[in-house]
Amino acid sequence: MYKPFEETSGAEDMRSGWHYLQLPGPTNIPQRVLSAMHRPAIDHRGKAFPELSMGLFEGMREVFKTEKEVFIFPSSGTGGWEAAIANTLSPGDKVLMFDSGMFSLLWIKMAKQFKLDVQTVENDWRRGPDPDEIETILREDTGHEIKGVFIVHNETATGVAARIPEIRKAIDNANHPALFFVDTISSLGSMEFKHDDWGVDVSVGGSQKGLMLPPGLGFNAVSEKARKAAETSQFPCCYFDWEWMRENNATGYFPYTPAIQMFYGLRESLAMLRSQGLDAVFARHTRLARATRAAVDAWGYETVCAEPREYSNSVTAVFLPEGHDADAFRNLVLDRHNLALGGGLARLAGKAFRIGHMGDSNDLMIAGALAGVEMGLQALGIPFKASGASAANAFFASDTSAEGFAVAAE
Ligand code: PLP
Repeated sequence: MYKPFEETSGAEDMRSGWHYLQLPGPTNIPQRVLSAMHRPAIDHRGKAFPELSMGLFEGMREVFKTEKEVFIFPSSGTGGWEAAIANTLSPGDKVLMFDSGMFSLLWIKMAKQFKLDVQTVENDWRRGPDPDEIETILREDTGHEIKGVFIVHNETATGVAARIPEIRKAIDNANHPALFFVDTISSLGSMEFKHDDWGVDVSVGGSQKGLMLPPGLGFNAVSEKARKAAETSQFPCCYFDWEWMRENNATGYFPYTPAIQMFYGLRESLAMLRSQGLDAVFARHTRLARATRAAVDAWGYETVCAEPREYSNSVTAVFLPEGHDADAFRNLVLDRHNLALGGGLARLAGKAFRIGHMGDSNDLMIAGALAGVEMGLQALGIPFKASGASAANAFFASDTSAEGFAVAAE
C-alpha cells in the first residue's frame, strides 16, 4: 500500500555523517552538479536552448575523444545499447559477442531479443576478450557474415578492462569490415578512451558513472562508417533514431522533450572534467585503483581480474575467502558503517564484492571505504593477512603520480 515518503524513509536516512557510496555506479554526485541542476525548466523549443545543448555536444565529443557526432538520449545506458543496435543492424544479422561478465551477458540478451544471430564466445570472467581469438574468428569468416563485434570496455561486474586498441588491431589484421561496438558505460570519464583513434564505430555511454551525474542520460558516439550503416538498417527505430535526432540536433534542438535539468548537470560535470583535465582525472582514478589493489594484496585476497594489464581503474571486484557470504558482509558494512559496496553479480553473487572508485572520489573516501571493509571483515571473523587499509594509506603517502597531488605539493 502507498505510504507517504516521510513514513517510508528508514532510520538509515537519518544517520549522521556521510553515506559512503562506493558503488561502481551510480556514483557520488558533486554538490556543484546537484546545485547546477536545481533550476527551473526552460523552453526546450525556445531560442535560448541551443546555447545549452550545443555546448554539451562539444563537451561530449571531448570526453569521447571524437570529432564525429554524439547523440544524447533521455535513457539509462541500456537505451544507448539499444540505439546502437537499432540504428545500424538488421534482423538476422550475425554479430560476435563475449560472455565476459553480467553486463556483457545483458547486451547479448538484448541482441537476441532483437533477433540478431549472436555468435557468443564463452569467456573466462577473470579476463577480457582475447584479441588473438577475435582475429582468428574474423579471419575464418571469409564471407564477412559477421556485421558487428561487441565489446564491453570496462566490465563493471568483474573489474576487467578489455584491450580495445588491440581488439581494433585484430579486426584490422583480419581485414574484416564488421562494425566495432564498444560499451564505455563504466569507463567514460574515468579511464582513457579514444573513440576516433581506437577506430570504434559506436561507443555507448551513460551518465551515472564517470560523468558524476544521476542516471538518466545515454550516449552514442558514432563513426562515419556507422552513420552509413544506419542508412540501410532494417530495424524499426523511432525514439532512438539517430536521423531524427540529427535533424533536430543540427540547430540545438531535440525531437522530443530532453532531460533539461540533466543537461544543466552535464554542463557542470563537463566543466569540472575540463578544468581538471581528462589526463589528470584518469591519473586520479589510477591512483585510487592502485591503492585499492594494494589493500586487496595486503588482505591476502584476490581480485576477480586475473590479468594485471586488464585491471580496471574504476572498479575493483574482490573475492571473499571461500565459505564466507559476500552479501551478508556487504549488508553488515552498510548497516553498521553506512558504507555501500557493490555486490557480486550473476555467477559472482555471494562470492565477490566490488569497490567502486570512479567519478567524484578522492584518497580519503577510498581510505574510509577500505577501513569500513576491514571493520566488516573483523566483525564477521573473516580472516585476512594484514591491514589493507594501512597498505593503501602507505601507498597514498608515497605515490606522487596524480595531478591532484602535484597541485597540492606546489
Ligand atoms: N554496461 C555497463 C558496463 C554497466 O556498468 C551498466 C550499468 O551498470 C550498463 C551497461 C547498464 O546501464 P544502465 O543501468 O544505465 O542501463
